Amino acid sequence: GRKFFVGGNWKCNGTVEQVESIVNTLNAGQIASTDVVEVVVSPPYVFLPTVKGKLLVNLGVPWVILGHSERRSLMGESSEFVGEKVAYALAQGLKVIACVGETLEQREAGSTMAVVAEQTKAIAGKIKDWTNVVVAYEPVWAIGTGKVATPAQAQEVHANLRDWLKTNVSPEVAESTRIIYGGSVTGASCKELAGQPDVDGFLVGGASLKPEFIDIINAAT
Ligand code: 13P
Repeated sequence: GRKFFVGGNWKCNGTVEQVESIVNTLNAGQIASTDVVEVVVSPPYVFLPTVKGKLLVNLGVPWVILGHSERRSLMGESSEFVGEKVAYALAQGLKVIACVGETLEQREAGSTMAVVAEQTKAIAGKIKDWTNVVVAYEPVWAIGTGKVATPAQAQEVHANLRDWLKTNVSPEVAESTRIIYGGSVTGASCKELAGQPDVDGFLVGGASLKPEFIDIINAAT
């Protein structure tokens, strides 16, 4: 089976003191066995030494988040460029959380799956081995807005994405690749989302800075 995966995307938040406080909360939290859940946090670059020295588990900076909508829109990263970055990161031995997702306008136009497929195809065209890739479905309209996708909306896209991988990459990659959901996930919304068959975890922004991140880590247990 696919091990549940929870990422905390801290973005550019925090001071040294705040980051230390988050780390202390995580270290003190009752977290399910790492046999059950894989946890990755992504601190701001400048705080990597602070966090790395204090958070004991799973942090040698083995992971990188690529293709986040804020990079695509604010930094103008094209799908093609994101695909190249994913291939390059994997070649350097990093593991990759690769983000895809549609805007509200695209959803309302009925092109959600076309957008997600185009973004995924640009990655699939550049890589062969998906072992070290986690795909994060992050609808842009749900990021930082408090508008979490419903469990049915998330499940629909995750299932379609898995089907896309099955057809366009391989049945094995489709079966083994974790597809996680991101966008306004909270301690309150995580359980029902985690219950969806194709939701293999979360990429969490705002709530990853709060004690409820522990609840999200434990959502599948
Ligand atoms: P929020 O959880 O704050 O909506 O952010 C989601 C996100 O962008 C994670 O990468």
